[in-house]
Amino acid sequence: MASIRHRSRAEWQELDKEHHLHPFTDHKDLHQRRSRIISRADGVYIYDADGNKILDAMSGLWCVNVGYGRTELIEAASTQMRELPYYNNFFQCTNPPAVELAAVLKDLSPPQFNRVFFTGSGSESNDTIVRMVRTYWDLMGQPERKTIISRKNAYHGSTVAAASLGGMKPMHEQSGLPIPGIVHIDQPYWFGSDQELSPEEFGLAAARTLDARIKELGPDQVAAFIGEPIQGAGGVIIPPDNYWPEIQRICDEHGILLISDEVITGFGRLGSWFGADHFGTRPDFMPFAKGVTSGYLPLGGVFVSDRVAEVLIEKAGEFAHGYTYSGHPTACAVAIANIQLIQREGLVERIRNDIGPYLQKQWAELADHPLVGETRMVGLMGAMELVKSKDPLQRFPDKQPVGTLCRDLCIEGGLVMRAVGNTMICAPPFILSHAEADELIEKARHTLDRIHRAIH
Ligand SMILES: *Cc1c(COP(=O)(O)O)cnc(C)c1O
Repeated sequence: MASIRHRSRAEWQELDKEHHLHPFTDHKDLHQRRSRIISRADGVYIYDADGNKILDAMSGLWCVNVGYGRTELIEAASTQMRELPYYNNFFQCTNPPAVELAAVLKDLSPPQFNRVFFTGSGSESNDTIVRMVRTYWDLMGQPERKTIISRKNAYHGSTVAAASLGGMKPMHEQSGLPIPGIVHIDQPYWFGSDQELSPEEFGLAAARTLDARIKELGPDQVAAFIGEPIQGAGGVIIPPDNYWPEIQRICDEHGILLISDEVITGFGRLGSWFGADHFGTRPDFMPFAKGVTSGYLPLGGVFVSDRVAEVLIEKAGEFAHGYTYSGHPTACAVAIANIQLIQREGLVERIRNDIGPYLQKQWAELADHPLVGETRMVGLMGAMELVKSKDPLQRFPDKQPVGTLCRDLCIEGGLVMRAVGNTMICAPPFILSHAEADELIEKARHTLDRIHRAIH
């Protein structure tokens, strides 16, 4: 009873070209090359319409953490759809999956969190936070605290407020962003720096640019600081160990709210349930999405700390904000099944003690390759810097898109990795076996060899 009509690859490509606008895509370029049709998936593999089997080392888009084809999630959705596919949570209503999920999330999250607000995506979660942060300070009698500090090259989503929080220059340039009241400091990207400081000195200096910016703006003007524990779309930027503790200290000193964007790092990717657990921060907000359902259905949300939630509950009256799909029962049922699966299979512990260290060791060995200037990986989230020469360190010029070439050759060789400039990034599903990890590394190395031969 398939409701999707079967067509040839060429027919689908033609219809796609004529009618479908893609996210983050240069359509002229796409139309010359034609889109790749991904038609099914199983475990850690995706299959295209030509039957090519490709190891998905990006977990879809950082989300299919439990792998494809998991019966538990599929059945949770179909059971819930039969019972109650949708109802809203406005007008004094709620539904069992939303309530149950809120309680499950409370148990998983750090102790300052007892409440969650549901959304449909990470972008919506960050938009929600902008409104909550500003409302909180209004209610606290400090309405002049309006400015939110973020970081260059951060990614917090693509709606107007989320893209403003993000620090992606091309996004800002295309639409007159950021909106007022959002400023950006440098990211803690040691490899991208002149490397004159040690990583520790650099980590401290990078954190202290927050202190300097707060003082410049006036501490009583600053509402919050937002950061991804590890920047994802910006190129898997893993800060030095002393960075986050210093950021926390600075936020505490000035009484400003800390927002830990857990859209990628939430639900296990770093070998802990949340990035805040990994780095030891005590955020006031944690937006999440992606991994909460392993991407099987769209769902996002915001953990709101007691400090903020109690003020909103006591003083806000009606907080005039929400989405049609806030607390969507089917999405919430899938999230519960997904979290139960992660717990039953011990996948977070597996990343910490087994597949994480196993892949990290081999990933680190790729740094021997003449094209690789640095590798880094925490949990199952890693990056590899492609360089023109290692000693002395010489980067590829911007005009030479080696990262894109590497990405394309990887796919041709049966492996999905993403390119951010000349940084290759990977974030495979938590169920990756040792044999599949070996395959990932072998395919990556093979691709590096091909590029090296092509350009030298
Ligand atoms: C993907 C992402 C978002 C945006 O999530 P969407 O569901 O695409 O709106 C926000 N923050 C981070 C860190 C992300 O990686």
